[in-house]
Amino acid sequence: MKDMMTAAVYHALDDIRIEQWPVPKVGAGEVLVKTLACGLCGGETMAWYKKAEPKVLGHEPVGEIVEIGAGVTDFSVGDRIFVNHHVGRINSHLSRRGHFTRDPFYSSMRIDPGGVCEYFRALPQHLAMDTHKLPESISNEAAVTIEPWSCVLSGLKVCHIQPGDTIAVVGAGFMGQGFVHLAPFFGAGKVIALDFSDWRLQKAREFGATHTINPKSEDAVEALREANNGRLADTVIVIAPFPEAWDQALKLVEVGGCLHLGAPLAPGVDWVRDGNAAYFDQITVTSRYSSDHTDTYSYIRLLESGRIDADKAVTHRFDIADSAEAFRMLVEAEQSLKIAVYPHGIPEGSAG
Ligand SMILES: [Zn+2]
Repeated sequence: MKDMMTAAVYHALDDIRIEQWPVPKVGAGEVLVKTLACGLCGGETMAWYKKAEPKVLGHEPVGEIVEIGAGVTDFSVGDRIFVNHHVGRINSHLSRRGHFTRDPFYSSMRIDPGGVCEYFRALPQHLAMDTHKLPESISNEAAVTIEPWSCVLSGLKVCHIQPGDTIAVVGAGFMGQGFVHLAPFFGAGKVIALDFSDWRLQKAREFGATHTINPKSEDAVEALREANNGRLADTVIVIAPFPEAWDQALKLVEVGGCLHLGAPLAPGVDWVRDGNAAYFDQITVTSRYSSDHTDTYSYIRLLESGRIDADKAVTHRFDIADSAEAFRMLVEAEQSLKIAVYPHGIPEGSAG
């Protein structure tokens, strides 16, 4: 194994650098993974979410094990795997109550040094809880959707959708498309996507939306009622991270329904509700940060069953050398969904 490797490093939103970093050394119980592809995540564009120090981009990797540490028995060199970048533990108050991802331990575990680099190290905790050998039927492209759309699945689990319910999704970027695409597995009837971009709304139709609304050109509440027999939606999922979008989303929820917050506002940004309506509307507000090992497992099984159009979700592919351009496209987010970066070159035959 060589000593140094190429890594795409975040210094600031407009400053992504290609640098040489040391290849991580593998200790007992750990594995070294050659990164075959890694997705870029919208969360990486939230400047407030980033730590000050330079950081290797990416936490949505698929790779192949190239080295195993002493004592690793469940995995071998050559295994193609997905590793969840964060991983929970069993023995804590929050974990025992099902909130694995909000236990501080979860975010303290991370792949080293990240996903958009040639090699990364996975820890014993990763291997014990949330590392999965991938069947051949799951392509590397499809596998970059595992982390983000497992988060979607995690969110849908807490919306308590009843069979036939009408679901509205506010914000049809990559995560919104995931909610559109996966909601039917939870029993959704009508699935209605809202976005200012007609390109994204067209994509939403391809991912299974039964109706689309562009609030730029029509009144969202009126259009929703028209599409839904005069009623509002039973569950509304809002991905757009602005208080105005949350206000708009709340106006779309039927009495007794659910408002699911699919992404956070920046810290310190208020979101104010009418307390009288909050009482009488009987609306449940839910949220779910990231995804735990049970979500990953559910999602991989769905993927393996052939029911997910994951390959279609990867709209752009970049060589690691072009990571700055890939990141710019992510920030602009105009006509792209998932962007995949290839640290060892884009393989022959990849679409797009
Ligand atoms: Zn992500």
